[in-house]
Amino acid sequence: MHQRNQRQALSQAYLIREHTMNEVINPEKPETTTNNFIHRLIDEDLSKGRYQEIVTRFPPEPNGYLHLGHLKSIVLNFGTAERYGGRCNLRFDDTNPLKEDREYIEAMKRDIKWLGYHWDGLFHASDYFEQLYAWAVKLIKEGKAYVDSLSADEIREYRGNLSEPGKESPYRNRSVEKNLALFEAMRRGEFKEGEHVLRAKIDMASGNINFRDPVMYRILHATHPHTGDTWCIYPSYDWAHGQSDYLEGISHSLCTIEFSNHNPLYEWFLEAIEAKSPRTYQTEFAPLIISYILFSKRNLKRLVEEGYVSGWDDPRLPTIAGMRRRGYTPKGLKDFVEDVGVDRSESVIELSRFEYFIRQDLNKTSQRLMAVLEPIKVTLSNYPEDLVEEFEAVNNHEDLSAGTRKVPFSRELYIEREDFAENPPKGFFRLAPGAEVRLMHAYYITCQEIIKDEAGNITELRCTYDPETRGGDSPDKRKVKGTLHWVSARHALDAEVRLYERLFNKENPKDVEEGQDFTANLNPDSLRVMGGVKLEPSTLTFPDDTHYQFLRKGYFIKDPDSTAAKLVFNRTIDLKDTWAKLQKK
Ligand code: ATP
Ligand code: MG
Repeated sequence: MHQRNQRQALSQAYLIREHTMNEVINPEKPETTTNNFIHRLIDEDLSKGRYQEIVTRFPPEPNGYLHLGHLKSIVLNFGTAERYGGRCNLRFDDTNPLKEDREYIEAMKRDIKWLGYHWDGLFHASDYFEQLYAWAVKLIKEGKAYVDSLSADEIREYRGNLSEPGKESPYRNRSVEKNLALFEAMRRGEFKEGEHVLRAKIDMASGNINFRDPVMYRILHATHPHTGDTWCIYPSYDWAHGQSDYLEGISHSLCTIEFSNHNPLYEWFLEAIEAKSPRTYQTEFAPLIISYILFSKRNLKRLVEEGYVSGWDDPRLPTIAGMRRRGYTPKGLKDFVEDVGVDRSESVIELSRFEYFIRQDLNKTSQRLMAVLEPIKVTLSNYPEDLVEEFEAVNNHEDLSAGTRKVPFSRELYIEREDFAENPPKGFFRLAPGAEVRLMHAYYITCQEIIKDEAGNITELRCTYDPETRGGDSPDKRKVKGTLHWVSARHALDAEVRLYERLFNKENPKDVEEGQDFTANLNPDSLRVMGGVKLEPSTLTFPDDTHYQFLRKGYFIKDPDSTAAKLVFNRTIDLKDTWAKLQKK
């Protein structure tokens, strides 16, 4: 409880800092029960009896892998349904067959399940193509839609801009009969791509550009991942989205603020199809933006396709698949998103705040182990040659129910090369000539001799151990300042370890000089591979998806590249916590 309060206080402090910078909320204002304005809206809708049931949907376009940005929308949509005992659908917004792929659909389902969410209905916008077509015909008959034969360039030019009204297309006043005949012929595949489009007939002079006769259908002779070759005309996002929401009985259609100025069009279409109450309405929230992280499937796709990363699940990517492989946990990710909350004003969240929640969860759940990343050999000259002892080590101090494990100890050990200094600087409390340190769980040892090769590199440290200090404490209360992790050489497993740094050097990866793009900000040192790492033998006894804390080295998880012959581990994150430190200042 205490920890939770502390955490809340910390994040509160952080929120206030971020928000006062944007002058969005008054820090003096008493804390509301939720940091999610949409929940407040829903509470009001329910209290006024506007809806009987809360129904949401998560509507990704299957044109790439889901990322941390989507997680905000996933948590919001699925979490809101859970909170109000309602339903949440997963709907693939598959209106553009040129960019969409089955692989993405399957990956998205896998990722959502991994996060621990279950959709009530699984739909595709393409499930509604027939109904959308019927409604389009209705709009044509009522003079609310027409077939336009301008080229795409001309349509753009006629649309005008923010300071100039648009111009009406010369085809705008075709007769209903002509429009119907053309639209049916479009569907039959009688035209080439770009020859015609169907547009809603609204207002070419509207201040809202989305009202300037938005395109409802375009011709695409493409095979669709879901409907195959049934269709060669495809609805636009605006025409498909609200109607799909309506057909599924969605009560609250939640999307990011770039869709704010589509909201009136969303309403216009629902009005035009004579949607019945209680009908869906759209509410916009601020997208998740985090320093040093680049979202957007389009950009991530470039990184994948141009080989900057190893694939969509590269542990450096903010994709759900990459984050899973890296070892982030669903709980850590969701806790972070919940803490950020949902409001309308955009702000950049610091990466350290994200990392704080990842560490919080891993600290509570990870299996402790000793692993030596850059080994140097230690020989205990007074330890019997054939003796092997086993020390009992606690698996997780934060969760004693995780039990203990046995760690073998013998005459030859590995310790971390950086835990030894031949000429120790002031304040260096680890091993040095003549210095005594504790080997975790085991004995005190003292360095007696340094062995070097011909080139002068240290190859071995000869030490003595004090048998009286078994278990890591000395009966005469002799103090040592350093406690080192170690692995018994004879029992050690060899492994490769992959260490990750941020993928981008700049807080805003898109902040580039003219003529450059975000790839100019890629960090050339984002991946470091280390071979010859030594692990405790018990590593092999844990399931593949175990999260580890390699003591003093960070959190790790086994990578799927591991084989029987070669173990590979990813470092999820190191142990330092700059965000918590920042709060203490
Ligand atoms: P991308 O640009 O990465 O393709 P998108 O917005 O086009 O993102 P969709 O697949 O259309 O992606 O999005 C599914 C849902 O996820 C939408 O409701 C969208 O608003 C939401 N979403 C996408 N990015 C973010 C983000 N950074 N923060 C919050 N929600 C997001
Ligand atoms: Mg998109």
